[in-house]
Amino acid sequence: MGGEFEDFLDVKDILAERKAHIMIKSGCCGGEIRCEKESIAGSVSQRACVYCGARVVLNPITDAVHIVHGPIGCASYTWDLRGSLSSDATLFRNSFSTDLGEQDIIFGGEKKLEAAIEEIMEKLEPKPKLIFVYATCVVGVIGDDIEAVCRRMQKKHALRIIPVKSSGFAGAKPLGYKLACAALLELMGDEPQEKQAGVNILGDYNHGGEIWIIEEYLRKIGVKVISRVTGDSTYGRLIKAPSASLNIVECSGSMAYLSKQMEIKFGIPSLRVRFIGFEDIRNSLLQIAGIVGGEEAVEKALRLVEEEEARVKPIIETFRKKLSGKTAAVCVGGTYKAIAITRQLKELGIKPLIIGTQHGSPEDYRTIHDFSAEGTIILNDTSPAEIEKYIREKKPDIFVGNVKERVLALKMGVPFVDFNHDRKYPLTTYEGMINFVKELDITANHPVWKWAKTDLIAEDNVSELKTSVKEEVLTK
Ligand code: SF4
Repeated sequence: MGGEFEDFLDVKDILAERKAHIMIKSGCCGGEIRCEKESIAGSVSQRACVYCGARVVLNPITDAVHIVHGPIGCASYTWDLRGSLSSDATLFRNSFSTDLGEQDIIFGGEKKLEAAIEEIMEKLEPKPKLIFVYATCVVGVIGDDIEAVCRRMQKKHALRIIPVKSSGFAGAKPLGYKLACAALLELMGDEPQEKQAGVNILGDYNHGGEIWIIEEYLRKIGVKVISRVTGDSTYGRLIKAPSASLNIVECSGSMAYLSKQMEIKFGIPSLRVRFIGFEDIRNSLLQIAGIVGGEEAVEKALRLVEEEEARVKPIIETFRKKLSGKTAAVCVGGTYKAIAITRQLKELGIKPLIIGTQHGSPEDYRTIHDFSAEGTIILNDTSPAEIEKYIREKKPDIFVGNVKERVLALKMGVPFVDFNHDRKYPLTTYEGMINFVKELDITANHPVWKWAKTDLIAEDNVSELKTSVKEEVLTK
């Protein structure tokens, strides 16, 4: 019994198989980490399923119907969890599910799917132009031919119905991204379109209205936005994407496959951009202007950047004074966010001590390694137990993370800033930088931490806690 409690509360060791997924920054460059692999059994990965990956990419298409073909539990992922904003249609905020039960699992769910599409076409006004059908785990197991149902119903009702074969067990979230990208490619068709000077914005999901701010920057420098993929996008705009001259890619984790395929299929090059932190926003805008708009656009971009920096830098500076010298842990889902947040923290004089992401390529981790300070812990597909261990070791002043890390950080008494998708205000772009730095300040410097039990991190208190839990359980 005693041994179990030791394991339960003392996270001193990392599972042997997990060690290769953890890197400690040492030396100037390089660094090897095991990544893009299946999660290690027993490590309690924070990764979501394939269906979730597909849904997060496609759900922001505002005038589409999203049907979850599976048990109702899979449909608990709804608009509310991510809250991507729309400038017009609101159809995507509804959840549709075939709600498969035991009988359907035994006899097949195709009829139910067909009935669901019929009901939607009968009841919805105006009639939708686009439906996505997501296959969940059980559909993969019973083998419903959702492609055939979609083909049949598409023909009958003269609209686009795209099947997404996203059974959760087929892998992890990145496979869902890829399947969503494949669905978008199917939607865009095979025919090349006449090219026009302009960009598609890939991998911005408009959670806090950021895509509108970025579009405004691009409008000011004279760069046209052809399509948004997929924040605040519509069927009509998505099918014009093949005519763009450049894809600008924010979240590369979710959009890598689409951008690569669009280059092969439609000859559209792509550019990775980041709209967090002065340096990254400046570089991104100047590069876009240079590629799409030429000299005049570059001049306008320079003017815009200088005006915005002159406006925003003094605000940031007042907060920088209050934050500089602090240390941080950054644990988020994708490496795009991890890199962008960490770079902004460094601009503020905050030193990241722990950087963790659920998914990332060797190249992403090399980038993180190269700009990190000596001794930084870099984690791939980390678990709450590992995060707890390193928080205890490194004792960061602030934790920037997603909803999954929030409770752990707060329980350990570490000030927590939420960089999750359910927020309703921008955290990227110049406006977002102001919001972010205000949040860092109000969180890290809030007087409440004087009264919070921050000493939970201390080893003595862990032993104390362990003894009290043990006693409590044994008395029962
Ligand atoms: S893992 Fe399978 S059952 Fe669970 S939410 Fe994902 S698709 Fe549904």
